[in-house]
Amino acid sequence: TRASEALSTAKRSGRGTTRVHGGQYASPAAVGLAIANGEFTVVYQPIIDLDTMRAAGVEALLRWTHPTRGAISPEEFIPLCETSGAMPRLGDWVLETAMTTAAGWTIQAPPGHPPFFVSINASGIELGDPQYAARVLAIQSSSGLARGALKIELTESDYVAEFAAVNDNMAELQAAGVPIAIDDFGTGFSNLARLSEVRANVLKIDRRFISAIGLREADAPLVQSILGLARGLGSSVIAEGIETEVQAEWLRAHGCEYGQGFLFSRPVASADVASACSRIAAGQLAG
Ligand code: C2E
Ligand code: MG
Ligand code: MG
Ligand code: MG
Repeated sequence: TRASEALSTAKRSGRGTTRVHGGQYASPAAVGLAIANGEFTVVYQPIIDLDTMRAAGVEALLRWTHPTRGAISPEEFIPLCETSGAMPRLGDWVLETAMTTAAGWTIQAPPGHPPFFVSINASGIELGDPQYAARVLAIQSSSGLARGALKIELTESDYVAEFAAVNDNMAELQAAGVPIAIDDFGTGFSNLARLSEVRANVLKIDRRFISAIGLREADAPLVQSILGLARGLGSSVIAEGIETEVQAEWLRAHGCEYGQGFLFSRPVASADVASACSRIAAGQLAG
């Protein structure tokens, strides 16, 4: 589509994160083979309700174990897949895998919460496709994942790109009861007009602000402002990258609803999600 081509061109020329040369291992053909070979897996990191200290859901995170390159970080291969054209196919694989897997869990969310959810990262390239929301909803119904148990995360830099298809997909998903989270919030230059026009249901505060809590006093007003902004917009907040009890307690005391990070659990395989959540509910922290 024109919108996704424009977004992909913008990424190629813009960011400096992409390396088209040397990225042949991420061509659509190579990625298709890697999917068929079972080289990709999805791991899940619990997201904790900071009031009850119980897991409310998980974030799905993609992993690639390449036969010769070994484990490749998503920070490296996702941008390559976006520019090579492999992303829509890989993104669909993540949607199907994560939703089908999560539909098989019987984990209870804390009382008064929506069903235990899975939050799936989407690339701006995917949301540039006018058919994206329809595909997500079709995969949700065929997977059997409960309504209200899915969230979609879009990084702030892709949210601010303002392509028409991105707005339409966000609106369609929200209308169907799929909340949209703005990922890495605070790093991507959102303007207030954009936030009021295209509402996000969740703001995920980037971990660079969280890691400063208790260390760099100067960042505390920033985190407090994001919490106030979210309250004003009626959005909920997830703090990313919580590594210490001091950070968790500071965030809880300042009204942050949810947190995730190595303090609670690293991302784990599907089979270990339930036990990680029980351990956290029992007050045994990992970090
Ligand atoms: P993200 O969506 O912001 O995900 C959070 C990242 O922070 C994950 O890195 C997670 O493992 C890491 N993390 C969580 N807690 C802590 C902590 O306490 N300390 C530290 N230092 N790190 C923590 P990961 O799994 O390497 O993923 C990196 C990025 O790759 C993600 O950032 C996301 O932007 C992208 N990504 C991962 N999976 C997918 C996917 O399926 N689709 C798309 N489009 N992007 C994905
Ligand atoms: Mg994310
Ligand atoms: Mg994030
Ligand atoms: Mg991040």
